[in-house]
Amino acid sequence: MSDLLVAGGQVLRPDFTVERADVLVDRESGDIADVADPGTVDAPETLDASGGLVIPGLVNAHTHVAMTLLRGYADDKELDAWLREDIWPVEAELTAEDIEVGAELGLVEMIKSGTTALSDMYFHVGRTVDAVERAGVRAVLGHTAVTVGKDDEDARADLQRSLDVAKEFDGAANGRIKTTFQPHSLTTVGEEYLREFVPEAREADLPVHFHANETENEVDPIVDEHGVRPLEYADDLGLLGEDTYVAHGVHVDEREIELLADTGTGVAHCPASNMKLASGMAPVQRLREAGVTVGIGTDGAASNNDLDAFDEARDAAMVGKLAAEDASAVPAEAVVEMVTRGSADLLDFDSGRVEAGANADLAVVDREAAHLTPAHDLVSHLAYAVRGSDVRHTVCDGEVLMRDREVLTLDEAAVRERASEQARDLVARAETGA
Ligand SMILES: [Zn+2]
Repeated sequence: MSDLLVAGGQVLRPDFTVERADVLVDRESGDIADVADPGTVDAPETLDASGGLVIPGLVNAHTHVAMTLLRGYADDKELDAWLREDIWPVEAELTAEDIEVGAELGLVEMIKSGTTALSDMYFHVGRTVDAVERAGVRAVLGHTAVTVGKDDEDARADLQRSLDVAKEFDGAANGRIKTTFQPHSLTTVGEEYLREFVPEAREADLPVHFHANETENEVDPIVDEHGVRPLEYADDLGLLGEDTYVAHGVHVDEREIELLADTGTGVAHCPASNMKLASGMAPVQRLREAGVTVGIGTDGAASNNDLDAFDEARDAAMVGKLAAEDASAVPAEAVVEMVTRGSADLLDFDSGRVEAGANADLAVVDREAAHLTPAHDLVSHLAYAVRGSDVRHTVCDGEVLMRDREVLTLDEAAVRERASEQARDLVARAETGA
């Protein structure tokens, strides 16, 4: 027996009720074996959840985890100028080493704030695979292909790489890693390449993740050139479907919302990034009413500027209400659902609920804090008052990744030191063009 008992706490159940219970974890399978009445089951190892609330580990449905190295490097510009003037010149200098160090930093931050799974879009994916494997979380990874500014040979090679990487790393880290085919967006990948490579991805049964309808500037060129809305264009290219999710989905009209719902395409909503880059407000309430699966993502740390998914859930509630002009829109339960089960559904992980048979991906939130007192409604607290720093323990795949705020799988101090050095060198290279 190698079971683990998360004991003495209250537990958030899939129906959003809260009850006193112990959670028995089968470490062999990495699943939850039982949610039992307190004190009725035993295990060789115990994780103390007294004074705490056991919840599903949060799932970050869209990020660029290694962008932690660019946290605070360039702020306060709109998306297009920010990318062209600041982000892309530095990204051009990114080495595989930078990616690994940046990913480790982001994963430490995620574990410390109760996130147990992420969906990442970036480059040098093999190094992110290594970091995820060591950190112990779950991830959906992929190589992000861009064709603008490239000649035909380089453009085709980049899309081929996205296909190859998705095939190579699917199932890595004992199944904790899955992959997606990743054309960056509908405006940064040329139509001829999408027409050629999307059918290949579908043929290989690869899920697809891309940015869509993030800003008006992404919508207008497609309407001008093709005479249809971006998601109609995406549908025509075979890009929409059950195993597809788009990041952002801010500027979507009614027809596009119906298309997302009809095709089973999900949306990874990134409210903080949308606010910071003044991209707009996604119609989350409308999307949910239409039956679209919506998850929540932080986007990269350079446009957020942190990877705390509790923060993001709170932002999702706030922006959702503003967008709907209705304070009852996107209520507490909806954001808690989106940042757990909703995101997990997009990533196709059996996580996001504390229930026998589900993945043993858990966070224990310490309730003994002034900002969490009194406790009228713990779901309200999860949506509006809990911070990532309230997480006491984090468990993924049945393994304890953080115990009493100490990360066990990565050396936090060493990761921070390496990241600071690496980020300094990266920016120096970019600024001198060396
Ligand atoms: Zn993004």
